[in-house]
Amino acid sequence: SADAAQAYPLLIKQIFASAGRFEPNNQIIYRGEQSFSYQQFRDRVQQLANAMTAAGVQAGDTVAVMDWDSHRYLECYFAIPMLGAVLHHVNIRLSPEQIAYTMNHAEDKVVLVHDDFVPLIEQIQNHLSTVEGYIRLSDGQPSVSQKVEFIGEYEALLAAESPVCAFPDFDENSIATTFYTTGTTGNPKGVFFSHRQLVLHTLNMMGMLGSYDGLPLLRSDSVYMPITPMFHVHAWGVPYVAVMLNVTQVYPGRYEPDKLVGLIRDYKVTISHCVPTILQMLLSCETGQKTRLDNWKVLIGGSALPMGLALAATEKGADIYSAYGMSETCPLLTITHLNKEIRALPIEEQLKYRTLTGVASNMVDLTITEPDGQLADHDGTAVGEITVQAPWLTQGYFKELQKQEELWEGGRLHTGDVACIHPDGFIEIKDRIKDVIKTGGEWVSSIELENLISQHPAVAAVAVVGVPDTEWGERPYAMVVPKTSEVDAAQIKQHLQQFVSSGQITKWSIPEHIDLVDDIPKTSVGKINKKAIREQLQA
Ligand code: ADP
Repeated sequence: SADAAQAYPLLIKQIFASAGRFEPNNQIIYRGEQSFSYQQFRDRVQQLANAMTAAGVQAGDTVAVMDWDSHRYLECYFAIPMLGAVLHHVNIRLSPEQIAYTMNHAEDKVVLVHDDFVPLIEQIQNHLSTVEGYIRLSDGQPSVSQKVEFIGEYEALLAAESPVCAFPDFDENSIATTFYTTGTTGNPKGVFFSHRQLVLHTLNMMGMLGSYDGLPLLRSDSVYMPITPMFHVHAWGVPYVAVMLNVTQVYPGRYEPDKLVGLIRDYKVTISHCVPTILQMLLSCETGQKTRLDNWKVLIGGSALPMGLALAATEKGADIYSAYGMSETCPLLTITHLNKEIRALPIEEQLKYRTLTGVASNMVDLTITEPDGQLADHDGTAVGEITVQAPWLTQGYFKELQKQEELWEGGRLHTGDVACIHPDGFIEIKDRIKDVIKTGGEWVSSIELENLISQHPAVAAVAVVGVPDTEWGERPYAMVVPKTSEVDAAQIKQHLQQFVSSGQITKWSIPEHIDLVDDIPKTSVGKINKKAIREQLQA
């Protein structure tokens, strides 16, 4: 009947139903130490769900996970929401106070915690007002904590349960996941996503990653390893796609650059995703310097991909793509699509497209709005704020109605990013609104300056911020990590002069102050932390 046909809710269990259907013998590998077939994965997810029920978790409860990227985390991605509970991905890189804040705010009931974070739990547990129990995630070490009382250890709890669990049907609009923005100002804000949204995001991501004839980024014979933490925006949603396609997956545990490159080499990883700073670390670590990346495709997002870094990765054989999104957007908004005309170009010319912010994904309605509210032309010069509508955007911030109204002002989600759109549909993010440098009435894009500085052969990494200036309002300032000790600030300014001569930037864009440093401050997810740089300069 029509009713029955309509009564098929879009639930995460529909993604899970495909696990092992196509490639039952493909493996899910943890740190090169443990390996599970998709059949074992199916059993373990159901055992985990039964263990959660035994621990008192019911539909509507929130369950927190504190782990590095692991097969266990992947099991939680399924088991917890499929019970109707909400999976809280705890950002383990926040400060202890902020972590406690997010756990209380999300009302976590049960917490799965890796041994590495047990000392943190010891420190904050007296401040956690809703937690009723902890489950230990262990990589085999004996328990060290006397202070935390555990319901049990993950493997032991799974072993005691049946591998059969009848997951219920429920409203597809039920909340499946929640996590917190990194909170550049004030407290972190909670975003949340429903089953329906995650299913649609997965289907769409699968389509976008598979959309190149002959050379899709992800298909069932790919080998996938995330290098974007699983606590950060669903690892861009790719683990759900990988399970749906039964892809061989490698979960690296804690991120250590040499170990990551070793896993890429040993397991012949074909596809990863990461932020630019991580890519730079992979290329420059000891193993990275010795290792070719010829069969490795990598999707770069979270920050703009500087041309210098794109060139360095391409020289190593990596095949690079860009994507854009944010915590509030699940995340996918845009992704590189190289159409057949672009694919026919030599790689150096393709890089221009590969380092832009991609094109709007299927199902995403993306526009740029000028400050007066007018839609900007797609002429590659007019800039405006990106606003979006899509099937997988957070409805707002959890228990923060007022901030929600700002986010959704006028019925579209405001990204706080300024961009132009080229006539061929490629989007170019110029800056975050709060990072644009306003100097003497002129707007300078920190991203553009970074991009140009990154092309100096001796520059490994660079960050540009605006610093207050009595005469000009603000002036650009650059922090550079050199590849060799031979480069100095004057040479970098000299390098920028050529772009002044070519008319690409004005002479006002050249920073007076360029500091050479060993390291650039990073956020909890490893991006360049411009707020911290500005604070450091003021101190
Ligand atoms: P945070 O604000 O802490 O970095 P998010 O991970 O939600 O948290 O970051 C989303 C923001 O990251 C976007 O609003 C945008 O400014 C930036 N961003 C993400 N992807 C890209 C990209 N491909 N190019 C430029 N900026 C990007």
